[in-house]
Amino acid sequence: MGCVRSPVQVWYPRQIMLKKEKPEWDEYFMIIAVVVKKRADCLRRQVGAILIKDFRILATGYNGTPRGIRNCLKGGCRRCLMRHQGKLKSGEREDECICLHAEQNAVLQAAYLGVPTAGATLYCTSNPCPSCAKMLINAGIVKVICRVDRPEDKIGLELLRQAKIKVVIFNKSLS
Ligand SMILES: [Zn+2]
Ligand SMILES: [Zn+2]
Repeated sequence: MGCVRSPVQVWYPRQIMLKKEKPEWDEYFMIIAVVVKKRADCLRRQVGAILIKDFRILATGYNGTPRGIRNCLKGGCRRCLMRHQGKLKSGEREDECICLHAEQNAVLQAAYLGVPTAGATLYCTSNPCPSCAKMLINAGIVKVICRVDRPEDKIGLELLRQAKIKVVIFNKSLS
């Protein structure tokens, strides 16, 4: 008698046949930038930025005082403190602020780690200020995807566009 084989049963789990819901790339990186900003110790505002190349994270940055300097929430930045106390107007004596911006810290982290920034994309939870825009241009950033939380500051984004950097405004609410 020959051996009787039972038919091979192939079972596909239902879930692999359904399309899994997941964030698109821009949404994914913006969600990460939002998490990054939660580390910021600044009295004034919290901003997060990440540098991406080929869908990989090169570096992250959030705003705050330089390493080893008392953080802004503990009074490390006199300018932020005075602004917080209402003694200064927006933009007034900004050059005295010792806090680094998130975009600056992302580029500096890449430098610290020896990772090239040329050709990278920056995701940021805020629109870059003129000073960060200058730096992003010369760091070779080719695309900036950001939220606009300071619409009054138009110079930064204008500068990026003039330097032929692709600017994408990210308005979508994040889940
Ligand atoms: Zn500060
Ligand atoms: Zn800035």
